[in-house]
Amino acid sequence: LQRESARILDPQDWAAFRALSHAALDDALDYLETVRDRPVWQPVPADVRARLQTPLPQNATPLADVYREFVENVLPYPTGNIHPRFFGWVHGSGTPTGALADLLAAIMNSNVGGRDHGAVYVERQVIDWFLRLFDFPEGASGVLTMGTSEANLIATLVARTRACGRVVRDDGLFGKERLVGYASTATHGCVRRAFEVAGLGSASLRVLPTDALHRTDPPAVARAIEADRANGLHPFLIVGNAGSVDVGALDPLDALADLAARENVWFHVDGAFGATGILAPSVAPKLRGIERADSISFDFHKWLHAPYDAGCVLVRDGELHRATFASTPSYLTRMPRGLAAATPWFTDYTIDLSRGFRALKVWFSIKETGARALGAAIEENVRQAKLLGDAVDADDAFELLAPVQLNIVCFRYRAPGMEDDELDRFNDDLVIALQESGIAVTSSTTVGNRRAIRVNITNHRTRDEDLTILLDALKKLARELQL
Ligand SMILES: *Cc1c(COP(=O)(O)O)cnc(C)c1O
Repeated sequence: LQRESARILDPQDWAAFRALSHAALDDALDYLETVRDRPVWQPVPADVRARLQTPLPQNATPLADVYREFVENVLPYPTGNIHPRFFGWVHGSGTPTGALADLLAAIMNSNVGGRDHGAVYVERQVIDWFLRLFDFPEGASGVLTMGTSEANLIATLVARTRACGRVVRDDGLFGKERLVGYASTATHGCVRRAFEVAGLGSASLRVLPTDALHRTDPPAVARAIEADRANGLHPFLIVGNAGSVDVGALDPLDALADLAARENVWFHVDGAFGATGILAPSVAPKLRGIERADSISFDFHKWLHAPYDAGCVLVRDGELHRATFASTPSYLTRMPRGLAAATPWFTDYTIDLSRGFRALKVWFSIKETGARALGAAIEENVRQAKLLGDAVDADDAFELLAPVQLNIVCFRYRAPGMEDDELDRFNDDLVIALQESGIAVTSSTTVGNRRAIRVNITNHRTRDEDLTILLDALKKLARELQL
C-alpha cells in the first residue's frame, strides 16, 4: 500500500490526467468569459456547506469526482471580484493571463526564498521595475509579500531597526525610549496591527485627525511629534496614505516627506492601491513626494489585477532592510557558485523562508499588457468614479458623503422622513440586500459619523452602464425595503 500511495501522487495515467486538465482549463475559460452573465455573489447554501465538512478522506477518490465536487460546491460561490459589478472593499479583478502564469508557477513549484534559479531573477526584475517607477536610488531593495498588510509590517520593522539599531533584534525593546509613530484616522487598520505585532503596542501609534478631504494633516503630525519629544518619547515613523482605504484620499506626501526629513523620522507610504496610480498620467502628479519615502507598500492584487495574492514593499536603504531580517544559519550557507549562490536571498528581506513564485503572474501580466495599458485601466476607473459621483450628486435619492478624489465613491440613500440613525441602519440593510440580489456588490463604511454605501472601482471589467445598473438596483431595493 505504501508504494501504491507514493505512486498515486503523480498521475498513473497521464493521458487521462491530460484530458481532464484540458477539460478543466476549457471550463475555467468559459467561466471567465461568461462571468458577466452570473450573479456577482450568492451565499453558500447550508447543504453545500455541509458537504464541505466531511471527515478526513482516508482513501483515494477519482480525480474526475473531486473536480465535479469543486464545480458543484465551490466554483459557484466566489467572492465575486472577477465580476464587472463588484465594487466592495478594494479587490482587484484578476486577469486570465495572471491565472495562466499561476498555473505555470505551480508547475515549476519553485521556492523563491532564495538560491540561484530563474524565479529569483523574475522577482528581482519585477521589483526593479517598481524601484525605477518610484525613482528609488541604487542600493534600494524590495520583496514581494502576501499583501500590503505584510508589507507595512516589514516597513515598520525596518523603521524600528533604523531607530534602535540592529541590536533590537537581540534585545527587543527593553530599556529603550518608547517608540511612537504617526498616522491618521484614515490609515488602514493593518498599520495598527503592525505596531502590535512588532511589539511596539498600538497605543504607540498616534492616530491623528485628518483635514476636510480626509488627508493626513502635516501640522497636526508636527504638533504630536513635538509633544511626544517633550515627554521623552522617541518619534520614529510617519505613515502617509497614497489612496486611503475609506475614501481614496491622497495625502500631501511632499509635505510629509519634508516633515519626516526635518524630524529625522522614517517616512513610509501605504499605497496599497493608490501608489500604482503612478502608471496613470492624471494620478501620478498627485503622488508627488512618494519618491522621497523611505519605504513604500503596494499591492499587485488590487489595481494591477494580479490574481491573489501579491503585494510588495520597497525600501530606500537596502542595507537596513537586510539588517532587519538577514541571518545565515549553517543550513542556509551561501556559496560562490551552484544552487546556493545568488546572495542576497529574498528571505534576507522578509519574515518568510519558503516563498511561492508570486512574481511570475505579475511579470507575465505587465509584459503582455504593457505598463501604459495598465495605467489606462486605472485612468478609466478614476473617470468612472467621477461619473458615478456626479450621478449620485445629481440624484435626489442619494447624498454624496465625501468628495470623489480617486476611485472611491461614498454616499447614502436618503429615505424621506428618516433620521440619521435610522438612515445608518437603512443603508447597511440596503448594501446587504444589494449583495444578496446578485446584481452588484458594494461594501459599507462610516464617513464623518454616518454609514455609507462605499463603491470602490478597481475593476478593469466595469463599463459605464454597470454604474447605472448599480444605482437603479439600489433605488429599486430601497423602495422594496421601505414596503
Ligand atoms: C487593502 C489595503 C491594505 C491591506 O492590504 P492587503 O493586501 O489586503 O493586506 C492596506 N492599506 C490600504 C490603504 C489598503 O487599501
